[in-house]
Parts: sequence; structure tokens; C-alpha cells
Amino acid sequence: MISVVIPVYNEAPNLPVLYERLVKVLDKLNQSREFIFVNDGSHDQSEEVLRELAKKNPEVRFINFSRNFGHQIAVSAGLDHTKGDKVVIIDADGQDPPELIEQLYLRSLDGFEVVYAQRVSRKGESWMKKATAKWFYRILKRITQIPIPVDTGDFRIIDKKVVEQLRQMPERQKFLRGQIAWIGFHQTYVNYERDERLYGKTGYSYRKMIRFALDGITSFSNWPLRLATISGFVFAFIGFILILYTLYSRFWIKNYEPGWASEMLTILFLGGIQLIGIGIIGEYISRMNDNIRSRPLYIIKDTNIKGN
Ligand code: UDP
Ligand code: MG
Repeated sequence: MISVVIPVYNEAPNLPVLYERLVKVLDKLNQSREFIFVNDGSHDQSEEVLRELAKKNPEVRFINFSRNFGHQIAVSAGLDHTKGDKVVIIDADGQDPPELIEQLYLRSLDGFEVVYAQRVSRKGESWMKKATAKWFYRILKRITQIPIPVDTGDFRIIDKKVVEQLRQMPERQKFLRGQIAWIGFHQTYVNYERDERLYGKTGYSYRKMIRFALDGITSFSNWPLRLATISGFVFAFIGFILILYTLYSRFWIKNYEPGWASEMLTILFLGGIQLIGIGIIGEYISRMNDNIRSRPLYIIKDTNIKGN
């Protein structure tokens, strides 16, 4: 069986189109299947549209969250409820072309537990989004030991084995593309061109993007913490040299003009560096705090999946 997990946030007009395209491509694969739509607290008609789809087709399952919990949590919830031997993760907005699932699936039959879709281009997105995404993935690659692929979203097919491992991972800051890279097994990719979204606008505000980026970095790298330490050492060293110089000026050459400008600069600059250091530590501590609280990851309002 193939399970398809689809996170949904205000995607009502996209759902019927997407569903039809999914059915069409999955028909070719000759496998039984289930569609798991996770409605992440949409404000539009998504819930009604999903109920309609489910009425007409028993393969359609939906999970309605009690509120918006975020894309990664929606996907995680979907994964928690899949029964398939292979699981496809795909966006609801048509940006991930469902037709590519055929290629992903065929490639997975060559013995790959993970086949992710790597975009060679993306259409209809602001240069800001493209540029920040491009740099984010490249920086992340440099500061982590895990080979997290660049230019890759969550669009992929993964084996049941991988899903089972994901279910065991207790962290609350879900960064699935990183977690899946971390899990290992055999992984490969196929290239694709990312399309424009069909209707509506992105559910990823800059605020959500920054949060997501910080989750990815803090979950897979301690380098920012080290950076704070390293810069501490560098500035302590510079400070030491300056102390020697100050003492030398004061007692040897007796040249100690009041240096207001340099003093201000030093204080402001070091103050800034210190605040950044504290901020970095704060980012990690707040995430530890989230994990210690260990509230449920998401709350299901209702679902048509049995056993819930
Ligand atoms: N999404 C979600 N919860 C959110 C934001 C987005 O479930 O809080 C879903 C959305 O419906 C889509 C996928 O996650 O299926 C990707 O989101 P979007 O297309 O808005 O992001 P973008 O492609 O612009 O990065
Ligand atoms: Mg999108």
C-alpha cells in the first residue's frame, strides 16, 4: 500500500484538483493506497471540501487539527497515521507536481528507502524567498555533520522503515528533511521543476520561515553555540592586547588622551556581540524548554481514521 500525506492550510480550491491528479498518477502504479489529508487549522472551506471528498471515496482520510500547528507538525501527524509500505509526502498547493510520484516510486523500487525530489528551478516565488532558501540550505550544509540535501523540501517517497523511525523521534522542533537525512538507509533523488501554486497564497509567512530555519539549525548543529564561544575568545584576546597597550601608554609613554570615540565603539560593539551570544544560547534553551514541557505535539479535533 502507498500512503500519501498532504498537509493542508487554507487550500480549499486546490484540493479537488490535487486529488484528481494524485488519483491519476497512482492508478498507474497498481497499488492500493490511502490519502491522508491533515487540515492544519484552515480558516477557509478546506474542512468541508475534505469531508466531501471522503464521503465519495473511502481512500480519503482526513485529520482536522484543533488549530494551526504548522506544516512540519501537520506532516508528522500524517506520518503517525499511515499504514502504507511506502509513504509519499506532498504539498497541497500543486507546487510539488503529483505526476513526479511515478518516478519517485519507480526509483524507490531500486532499493532506496528514501527518494527525495530536488528542485532544479522554482516558479512563481519571490526572489527574496528563492535567495533566502538558497543560502539557508547552503549554510546549513556547512554547519552540520548530517548530509541534508540542498534545494529539497519534504516532497519525497519514504519507506515504512523510515516512517517508523520518525515516529520514534521525540523532538518537538520537527525538521523532517533533516531528520530523514539523519536516519540514513539508502537515499537518492530525482530532479524536478517546482511549479507555481495553483490558487491562494503561501501559508509560510517570513515569521514562520525564520522559525523553521532556526529549528533546522538548532536541531542539527551546535555550531552557533561554538561561534559564540569562539568570538568570546577572539575578543578576549583582542582585549588583552589592548590592556597591554593601555598600560604601556599610561605608564611608559604617558600618552593618555581621553578616547571617548574608541571607548564608545568598543562598548557598543562588545555589547552587541554579548547580546548576540546570549540570544543564541536563548534559542537553544527555549527549545530545550519546549521539549521538557512535553505537551502533545498536536491536538486532533476530529478524523475519519478508525482507532482515533
Ligand atoms: N501548510 C500547513 N501549515 C502551515 C503552513 C502551510 O499545513 O502552517 C501546508 C500548505 O497547505 C502546503 C504546505 O504546507 O500544503 C506548504 O506550504 P506553502 O505552500 O504555504 O509554503 P511554500 O510552498 O510557499 O513554502
Ligand atoms: Mg507552496
